[in-house]
Amino acid sequence: MQRWPIGVFTSIDEGLGVHLDVAQELGIPTVQLHAPSRQLRTEAAADQFLQKCRDAGITVTAVFGGFAGESYADIATTAATVGLVPEATRAARVQEMKEISDFARHLGCDTVALHIGFVPEDTESSSYRDLIDVTRDLLDHVARNQQRLHLETGQETAEHLLRFIADVDRPNLFINFDPANMILYGTGDPLEALEKVGHLVRSVHCKDAKWAPEAVRGVEWGQEVPLGEGDVGIERYLRKLHQLGYEGPLTIEREIPQDRERQKADISHAVRLLTELRERILGAD
Ligand code: MG
Repeated sequence: MQRWPIGVFTSIDEGLGVHLDVAQELGIPTVQLHAPSRQLRTEAAADQFLQKCRDAGITVTAVFGGFAGESYADIATTAATVGLVPEATRAARVQEMKEISDFARHLGCDTVALHIGFVPEDTESSSYRDLIDVTRDLLDHVARNQQRLHLETGQETAEHLLRFIADVDRPNLFINFDPANMILYGTGDPLEALEKVGHLVRSVHCKDAKWAPEAVRGVEWGQEVPLGEGDVGIERYLRKLHQLGYEGPLTIEREIPQDRERQKADISHAVRLLTELRERILGAD
């Protein structure tokens, strides 16, 4: 495959991301897929989706887990509802994530990913210890499917994510780096974070955002904006990925489901921007 193939975040039913026809229309060769709800995670549905991808010449590079009851309404709600961290739903979601791994295997996909949630800061707490245990259990299941698990960045600092990954201590745990999330959640400069975690990055999101005002950073969201218009510095970001030896897909993420037309236009613009930067950066090799 070409280095840095363009990608886009997609879903089958009500998940995040655009539907496959948008990727097809824009000629985007790879997608990450937000896992569909349980009734669509059958082998038959996987076969059907895979056939559509084949017809469109599209490769699925990762399947992202998502769960009923998650809400990104604001940072506090996200912390309370997202991923494997909330204790009340932890066991059920680990089970569901294993099913999502099985669904990804039916799609022939070697990567599953998720927002694990806000990893507890106290590494001595029982919640943190238990999160380590369930993540190991999940990773062993994922390994039996010959897959890796990528953790999405942003909900903790680069240092804390590295600490968590080291504590889990499994060879198939990596990172899906999202520079905009570091800004949206106020968890640190994305380029500095990338420098620290780069050796574990196996997939990336191309998304942009503006910092929240300093007084409310980390408490209130920053603002997600079209690629190239935010504080990430997309060219610097790609140059850093190049320097780190990253050659995988550049997966565009643009989460404005309330305006599908604008979403598509922004993605189309992002494709042009990334294609131009890829030529400028890789063309010089
Ligand atoms: Mg992302």
